Amino acid sequence: MKINENFLNLKDSYLFATVGRKTAEYKKNHPDKDVIRLSIGDVTLPLAPVVIEAMHKAVEDMSRKETFKGYGPDQYCYGYECLIDSIRGSYARKGVTLRPEEIFISDGAKSDCGNILDIFSVDNVVLVPDPVYPVYVDTNVMAGRKIIYADANEANGFLPMPDMSVDADIIYICSPNNPTGAAYSKEQLRAWVDYALKKDAVILYDAAYEFFVTDGNLARSIYQVEGAEKCAIELCSYSKTAGFTGVRCGYTIVPTELVRGGVSLNKLWARRQSTKFNGVSYITQMGAAAVFSEEGEKQCRENLAYYQKNAKTIADCLDGLGIWYTGGKNSPYIWLKCPDGMDSWAFFDKLLEEANVVGTPGSGFGRNGEGYFRLTAFGSAEATEEACRRIREVLKK
Ligand code: PLP
Repeated sequence: MKINENFLNLKDSYLFATVGRKTAEYKKNHPDKDVIRLSIGDVTLPLAPVVIEAMHKAVEDMSRKETFKGYGPDQYCYGYECLIDSIRGSYARKGVTLRPEEIFISDGAKSDCGNILDIFSVDNVVLVPDPVYPVYVDTNVMAGRKIIYADANEANGFLPMPDMSVDADIIYICSPNNPTGAAYSKEQLRAWVDYALKKDAVILYDAAYEFFVTDGNLARSIYQVEGAEKCAIELCSYSKTAGFTGVRCGYTIVPTELVRGGVSLNKLWARRQSTKFNGVSYITQMGAAAVFSEEGEKQCRENLAYYQKNAKTIADCLDGLGIWYTGGKNSPYIWLKCPDGMDSWAFFDKLLEEANVVGTPGSGFGRNGEGYFRLTAFGSAEATEEACRRIREVLKK
């Protein structure tokens, strides 16, 4: 037998391991220091009460013969109708009309970022931004696809625009972006949709952070741009919207109008899912269905406001220091330029040793991340304020 040798082409992921090791070493040598982590990419607030209530009720359903549920309904690839309907409702509020059969419930956006590639040939050329959420790169390396990069940098505000001289077949766009926090306007996305339509390409649009968008000019879904239903698949998640990182639920939109090579991608994906996936638990789906209820959105927005306030605390701190950054306004991520031309790891060491604050070096997200640094808004308000006080102290001139 032969293994999939493409796996040997994966680069070792040292980023979070090195951040963890350096932090642990520092704490061991300085047990008296209170180290604050602004590197957290995970949510920290509990689930909204309506979600908990819905999940409790679903557990009760499972305890009685009359309401017990086995495999999910075949009709929508194991998604329950009430969940599909609630997602349609949330899209309708963004001005987007979806058919029920276009919504596929998943166990999260990360899985589907990789799984969706099953329906595409390995011969396709993949375009990813640099810096990048590493999943887009690694899943394609595993499959042996050729990857090319779109440079994101200070000049384009870390929002690369399409270049007609570049031929790509699969394009990853993440907006608001992890790691840079930058978010595309609807106008900017229109250029990507035009590009994809001209090139007969497919955009994989990762909207995991769409709930953080407050500016009406920015996109919350690629389908807010006309024509996107003919060239884009959207990957969404309840993780950051509703604190589901440990519950696991997401949804992938594959429009029925999306056709390549004369074949419906919606049909291909439905076939793939019914073969390799058996759905998300009933209890999880009932919790998720509560998220886009009126009360659910209100409660989730309260949690979001907490993170948004943290993001503003960090952004205000950087504004005061005159440090360039993207994100923080429509995103939980703040991507800053390391001061005094420092490289990402030198700045990491400085913040750890002098401010006892941990962030994530930008160089770990790609070549263009060198010289940049990611802070996140997922910590506690007290810790975020204290971290900013220390950063101010250390970096003020
Ligand atoms: N997409 C992006 C850009 C992310 O940053 C993350 C998580 O950090 C995910 C997807 C994963 O989402 P999920 O928890 O739904 O798998």
